[in-house]
Amino acid sequence: MARTYTSKSDKNMSRRDITRIVCEFFRLTNEVPKLRHIPHLPFSKQRVIKLFGTWNAMLECADLPLNRYKIREIKCAKCGIVVPRQMKEIRKSKKQFCSSACNASFYTTGRKHSEATKQKISESLKAKRIFKD
Ligand SMILES: [Zn+2]
Repeated sequence: MARTYTSKSDKNMSRRDITRIVCEFFRLTNEVPKLRHIPHLPFSKQRVIKLFGTWNAMLECADLPLNRYKIREIKCAKCGIVVPRQMKEIRKSKKQFCSSACNASFYTTGRKHSEATKQKISESLKAKRIFKD
């Protein structure tokens, strides 16, 4: 985030322009823009207030989470169950799951092991069995 805007010509910026910019900011930095980020944004706080009323109203328009503890309903990518999750958890991964079991089966289903890998797995299981006995 090296860029700093000193003079801002934001008079022609629309609500859409601003929400687009903050979404892009969020995508790049994974941070919800706050007032301290204003120097790095091409619009002023005044412009946001004029168009949206408040900074948070603008964030809500852009569909950005106001805080990371906010809870959203997510749909499990495997079984489709809807479960509540905190934003901070949602942001960590692209796909959301209701449980680690769903996560594991989503990513392992259809995985093809080569013959060599199968052989290795088989050998390692044999070794474990011998060790147990
Ligand atoms: Zn699930």
